[in-house]
Amino acid sequence: MLTATLSTLLGQPEVSAFLRGIVGRGRYANAYLFHGPHGVGKCTAALAFARAALCERVPGAAAAAAGPSLFDAPPATERMLGDDACGECRGCKMSGTLQHPDLKFLFPLSGEERTLEGTIEETLEELRKDPLYVFQYEKAASIRISQTRELIAELGYRPHTASRRVVVVRDCDRMREDQFSALLKSIEEPGASTLWVLTTARLSRVPVTIRSRCQRVRFRPLPESIVRDVLEKADVEEKEARMLAALAAGSLARALAMRDGDMKKLRDEALQLLVPALDRNPAQLVKAIQTVTGYGKAGRERLRMSLEFHQLWLRDALRLRYGAAPETLVNRDQLQVLQKLSSQLDAAEIRRRLLVLEEALRAIDGNVSPDLTLFSTLARVAGDRLGEGAWPALATARWDL
Ligand SMILES: [Zn+2]
Repeated sequence: MLTATLSTLLGQPEVSAFLRGIVGRGRYANAYLFHGPHGVGKCTAALAFARAALCERVPGAAAAAAGPSLFDAPPATERMLGDDACGECRGCKMSGTLQHPDLKFLFPLSGEERTLEGTIEETLEELRKDPLYVFQYEKAASIRISQTRELIAELGYRPHTASRRVVVVRDCDRMREDQFSALLKSIEEPGASTLWVLTTARLSRVPVTIRSRCQRVRFRPLPESIVRDVLEKADVEEKEARMLAALAAGSLARALAMRDGDMKKLRDEALQLLVPALDRNPAQLVKAIQTVTGYGKAGRERLRMSLEFHQLWLRDALRLRYGAAPETLVNRDQLQVLQKLSSQLDAAEIRRRLLVLEEALRAIDGNVSPDLTLFSTLARVAGDRLGEGAWPALATARWDL
């Protein structure tokens, strides 16, 4: 059963208030575009919004479902109308298990056509069992044509039982050109009975024509304390929860995805890179890079985490420099290393390095090779400490990406 409702959305009070306002007034735009960082609850909110819109006890629901008539809307005093899914009516019972005939939920898929049905069912089953289920898919995953064909045909008809049909499209930036066209046609239709709720973490990849016709709803990174709370409730040990929450940079999905990974090993790997750079030891640094770049296929994600750990070290060092209490540091089990670091680097130098890492993290999303990114980044991070000229000449040493 999906338990998330608009009133219980985590860490997005403005979004929650805004959406409840819409439900409470019963006046919907044709399409909403939920955008913001990955893993902050956009899809959860979209499904909660859909459930509220399909609830039979919110304004505009019952009257419209029964068809327009002068007589069938009972006086407002007889009906307690809410601004969120009641969880009890027939509509809520069906939408709570994602089985409402007027709720369509599309998400990116990969794999062969004949396996899609099964993958969809499995995913929905996981989602029903675990409200914290984290969607993970391959880079090439997309909203498949076979998923939208039936839906597009249905758009011309009235909804089955509710007053409107709700279509939630997760990561809508992964739709194809012709799917966007069909979507556009539906959004622009006057008096349409379909409510579109689109989500994206990559707003720039959504065509301008779509963006301009949707009401946009912006989601923010979650506060660290909220991520930590959720992790601890999911039985993650306090110390690890703190580290995961800090590393997740406001994304609960990332924290949850990392929960089962070998955090300490990765963190220590990042340290292996940091220490030689600090000690101006090029030979050691090259050796460390060679270890870390032997990642093979999973390289990109691992590299990202390594760089993020690197950032975390530097942030801790910066906080220590500004007098933060040791127990508030993420890597407080390595206090001595941090103290050394913060005495060796001044604040300006730490910030410079953080910026270099930030650029590298952005570069990883592009089409650069992980090894080159790492070489280039660490050369620049170590830069004026090692002396650019003294940097060891490697066969692959093309620093400037
Ligand atoms: Zn209800």
